[in-house]
Amino acid sequence: MDDLRKQLFYEKKNGYDLIGTDEHVTAENYCRGYMAYLNASRTEREAVANAIALARACGFTEYRPGMALEPGMKLYFNNRGKALMLAVIGQKSLAEGAVIAGAHVDAPRLDLKQIPMYETDELCYFRTHYYGGIKKYQWVTIPLELHGVVVLKSGETVDVCIGREPGEPRFVITDLLPHLAKDQLKKTMSEGITAEALNLIIGSAPYADEGKDRVKLAVMSVLNDMYGITEEDFLSAELVAVPAFDVCEIGLDRSMIGGYGHDDRVCAYAELRAILDVENPARTCVCILADKEETGSDGVSGMQSSAFDTFMEDLCASQHVELRRCYEKSFCLSADVTAAYDPLYPEVSEKSNDARFNYGMGICKFTGARGKAGTSDASAEVVAYLRRVFDKAGVVWQLAAMGKVDQGGGGTIAKYMANRNIDTIDAGVPVLSMHAPFELVAKLDCYMTYKGVLAVYNDD
Ligand code: MN
Ligand code: MN
Repeated sequence: MDDLRKQLFYEKKNGYDLIGTDEHVTAENYCRGYMAYLNASRTEREAVANAIALARACGFTEYRPGMALEPGMKLYFNNRGKALMLAVIGQKSLAEGAVIAGAHVDAPRLDLKQIPMYETDELCYFRTHYYGGIKKYQWVTIPLELHGVVVLKSGETVDVCIGREPGEPRFVITDLLPHLAKDQLKKTMSEGITAEALNLIIGSAPYADEGKDRVKLAVMSVLNDMYGITEEDFLSAELVAVPAFDVCEIGLDRSMIGGYGHDDRVCAYAELRAILDVENPARTCVCILADKEETGSDGVSGMQSSAFDTFMEDLCASQHVELRRCYEKSFCLSADVTAAYDPLYPEVSEKSNDARFNYGMGICKFTGARGKAGTSDASAEVVAYLRRVFDKAGVVWQLAAMGKVDQGGGGTIAKYMANRNIDTIDAGVPVLSMHAPFELVAKLDCYMTYKGVLAVYNDD
């Protein structure tokens, strides 16, 4: 009976029971690289800049439309500093299709409003407008740092970063003390902290003179000394407040990584590392680091933008291939994180179908909500293809879903790729506390996601 069970039943296995010591060491080294990348990439702009630096160090050069393409060439295209596309030209023509992996490098955060600064009761604040899906109560009483750009009327860009380096000041949003929170505590968790109360405290010492707004004047003077900007310059700024936690190992066994922005920089780094490591692939490999996924993939740097089509069409044109012919033969891994099963909240999960920590790269056949609304739903043929490729390459992977059927749901860039007539499937790292200021992933899953993308890039 045992033999028959083994033969007929499907059983998920913990990745630690499947890999050897050598692979452990490789995974540890890989995760060290990821932790450094994540720690230094707090915004989509920083994620793109750091990715370009890594790519250039690996021999990638900037793509110019019309360039003659040779197999093995390593190219990148920087879309306005907020999104990035990389390609390694394959031995085969693009008429045979490309192998694409797409992740996003934007993450939930607090954007400053365009007129952010105000003083009230001799305290000075920045007003914010949250970006992406957040639980607002998680963003109060944690240290925050400020990143972004101020573009002056002249067009000159001033890079702003306050709070990342040790010794630099940081910011915080206050919350009521429990002693006076009788009414607040009766509210629901979504109403207890309101969007308009998510204001960062930025100063309290008044300017040594008489008149109104003395604290604001003192704070503005500091900013003027540091960056040469005035209050009007905020009109054309993109400044964001992000958690000031360092990325670190979690657990006595150091088997997990805690940090801000795993969604989706953990997959962005996996596919970036994979395309940097690929050599002379059969088909052209393409890696996308997209922006704006957390707000619906709209805009010039989002995955619905024709920036991607233009890049691919230019590559195709150099080989006299029609873009639509390339797309219909292409394959895309939409590399995005998925929800991990949380034993503290089993009621939202359907344990047999949800992803688990240390069970490897999570493959989502579909995302969406309710009756699978808003999903591209990969075909059985596509899943079978991945089973083949991953099993051949020794990738530890699992099928994943987003909790109980009517509990909620989510989306990724997958449908925007599939709508281009590209066979697409979601695949990525299972995350606990997704979209929180400090998210958690398992090292083994991070490494296996890299290995999975590399296996697809290397498949001929
Ligand atoms: Mn995501
Ligand atoms: Mn997300």
